[in-house]
Amino acid sequence: MLLETNERTVADEARALQARYGNLEPADIIELAIDHLFNEEIAVVSSFGAESSVLLHLIAQVDRATPVLFLETGKHFPATLRYRDELVGELGMTDVHDIHPLQQTLKDEDPYGAMSMTNKDRCCYIRKVEPMARAVAPYRAWMTGRKQFQASTRNALPVFESVGERIRINPLAQWTSADLQNYMVANHLPPHPLVAEGYRSIGCMPCTQPVKEGEDARSGRWAGSDKTECGIHLTGLTDQLSNISLTDS
Ligand code: SF4
Repeated sequence: MLLETNERTVADEARALQARYGNLEPADIIELAIDHLFNEEIAVVSSFGAESSVLLHLIAQVDRATPVLFLETGKHFPATLRYRDELVGELGMTDVHDIHPLQQTLKDEDPYGAMSMTNKDRCCYIRKVEPMARAVAPYRAWMTGRKQFQASTRNALPVFESVGERIRINPLAQWTSADLQNYMVANHLPPHPLVAEGYRSIGCMPCTQPVKEGEDARSGRWAGSDKTECGIHLTGLTDQLSNISLTDS
């Protein structure tokens, strides 16, 4: 697909940021992004999953008022919602947004809330991708907690990447599972309660299972289907965002 001029410029900008800052430590990347590169035009997207506390804690050290966007799909474990509230309180984050699917779309397409059993791609689209595009539209950049080690599909994940006219930043891209564990212990961060039950990557309740020791952390997501990503990090989001230019948002 040919890129529009703005998108090409932003893609160049992301490559330049990656070349210059891609090997900094996560704390330095976050400070750079919040205090120097994007100021008030940056948010963080958090699933409040197994390792989410690390990124949120790092961000809280820089600016507790950084907007936190949580995709409230309506299908989360109750434990995740309680963990979200506890963690936000503990870290003192002051600007947390629950992002909901469009109610009319749910009414029209998933009136019984069972679409995850019949059409997971569409369910993720209406509960995650479309809400995510709406949520990040007002910002020039957003941060995620994605890591290279999480799955073979993320091996080459950069710290800085472009998504249409916007920049996505993955400050923890190069950290290992041990780095995360060490950080959580050193900073006394509370674990998601389901980690103790074998859940190492935690998403919606109907599509998340615990994994065995040594298995890929994300193998419990959409287990038994070909699906490996919900789409919020893939081209569906780019397509959705391409309808919303920065000047519109
Ligand atoms: Fe639906 Fe499952 Fe996707 Fe959640 S993870 S939006 S329940 S298909």
